Amino acid sequence: MNKNNYIIAIDGGAGVGKTSISKELAKRLNIIYIDTGAMYRAVALYFLINDIQITDENIQKYINNIDLDIKIENGNNIIILNNKDVTNSIRDENVSMAASLISKSKIVRDILVDKQRNIALNRSVVIEGRDTTTVVFPNADLKIYLTASLDVRAKRRHDDLAKLNKTSNITIENVKENMIKRDEQDTTRKESPLIVAEDAIKVDTSNNDVDKSVNIIISLLKQKVKDINV
Ligand code: C5P
Repeated sequence: MNKNNYIIAIDGGAGVGKTSISKELAKRLNIIYIDTGAMYRAVALYFLINDIQITDENIQKYINNIDLDIKIENGNNIIILNNKDVTNSIRDENVSMAASLISKSKIVRDILVDKQRNIALNRSVVIEGRDTTTVVFPNADLKIYLTASLDVRAKRRHDDLAKLNKTSNITIENVKENMIKRDEQDTTRKESPLIVAEDAIKVDTSNNDVDKSVNIIISLLKQKVKDINV
């Protein structure tokens, strides 16, 4: 395949390294990176901030009050919720759980998937998140499904929270329990459950640092998109 624009979609459960790998990959390829999980987190944050219970009825009632804007700056996704930068606050562990709940909603998914496709219009992208290989871009040029052992995933996620000073009330065990719960919710939901796309290539990141996983993905990409410039 020879083409100007290409799409790399990266799927996988919580803590497998999707965000760090996707960001570094996009940087190496000099293309943009789209973090779809951040969008579900931002919608969930709206409900948490306003103390509104996440139910189908409330989603229908309040969804039009949510104005979500994604700015791409220096390779980072800046998430603006109703004119406020929430890039940092969406990373709280309670937001992770709420995002998993909100992401069951078809109304929310339809709006966000539309937004994601629009951002990717006429450009090359690395897009990551739990339905990007199956629903958002079923025709992506390269589909990767990342995996890692539960222990490694929990440690990584806890380290991420520590970097953001968000571990005062949370142990690795807590993170692990939340991950199991989230995986269960994400894989068993009716709308766009987390599944491995038929043509996705599995990459186990348990023993890899970010660079090693990125190198593996770039070599897979070179086999698919022939005139790629890396
Ligand atoms: O990837 P991240 O942990 O930021 O995603 C938070 C939650 O958002 C996930 O647990 C999942 O329920 C939901 N999500 C989704 N579809 C996506 C991205 C995230 O359902 N494409």
